[in-house]
Amino acid sequence: MTKTGPMTYHMFQLSLSNEIVKGYLDSFDKEHPTEESLIELICGLYEDDDLNVCLHCGSFRLDATDNVRKRKCSSCFKIRNVTAGTFFHGQKNIRAMCKLIELLNHGIMLSSPRIHDLVGIAQSSALQMTKKIMAVVEASYANETNLVPTGVFTNIFYRRTNETPAQRHPLSEQEAADEALSQKVYASDVRPDTEKNEKVTLDKLGPFAKTLYAEITSEPKNPDQLANKFPRKQIHEISAMLSFLQLSGLVEVLPGDYFIRFDPKTSKNQNQQPHIKSENQKSFETIMTYIRKVSHGISRKHLPKFIASFWCFFNREKWANGELLKACIQAKHITDDEITATVTPPLIPMPQWCMRLPTLF
Ligand SMILES: [Zn+2]
Repeated sequence: MTKTGPMTYHMFQLSLSNEIVKGYLDSFDKEHPTEESLIELICGLYEDDDLNVCLHCGSFRLDATDNVRKRKCSSCFKIRNVTAGTFFHGQKNIRAMCKLIELLNHGIMLSSPRIHDLVGIAQSSALQMTKKIMAVVEASYANETNLVPTGVFTNIFYRRTNETPAQRHPLSEQEAADEALSQKVYASDVRPDTEKNEKVTLDKLGPFAKTLYAEITSEPKNPDQLANKFPRKQIHEISAMLSFLQLSGLVEVLPGDYFIRFDPKTSKNQNQQPHIKSENQKSFETIMTYIRKVSHGISRKHLPKFIASFWCFFNREKWANGELLKACIQAKHITDDEITATVTPPLIPMPQWCMRLPTLF
């Protein structure tokens, strides 16, 4: 994944008039006027054999029925729902789901009140559908090695969820996560024994992080200098890993993008918390600005979905041209319960593209 060529996100897609959005929706309706044509669109992207096998007897002889979503086995006469087990399983309003995917395909992110107005579904359904689509996007970078503490996004948490402690502000969810993180990474009982803390954190690092950390000393180095030591890594990979080390409290950034080992004796930051005033803090601000534009406030629980949404908006090379629909179709059925049961860990994966963002807004 390299940043070659112009990035093709479009800021104005965030503030399109209703008329223009309707234009996109109308042309979708024109292209897929009937329920049948919608099912054809979806089924055409699945592996044929997967949808055309009887789930009861394994026969491949399925006949059409009056209901376009249902096919009848000519051996055992049982009915199979063509979307069973797929992303569209149990989705009553397939058209609305497809329309949301279509808008996102064009980089158009709407708040749920606008989806309600323009697509004609309840706001709660709009939100739930969006979350499911974003769960698909999120899964595509689940193994990303950039891990970012959710605490850097604290400024936008003001929605309650089932994880918010009773009678407490939604922010208390983040306090709990911070607490968990500090116990995990900083082993608070050994503070101020820095060497031991450092060991606890170092043990969690991958091989690249360890070798990069080994190159960082009390002598300031910039990412370019460090990149010379790792000819097989790209500069953005080095930068992303430096940010991770910084967020982990292992290295410190100095003005001019120079990195040194974190030393509590000389650091201006006495409380040993991860430093977040880095270039990535600007990236996080950018993502938060985006989230404020597409939502009236989010909960910590669903932060990863909104980061996925930003990535989908920003990385047009990856998510346009039908790629989002394809990804949804390759995904399995996501239940409402799974969305509700989501637990956001203290450190969340972040797509490489979301690190060191240019100023967008
Ligand atoms: Zn059968």
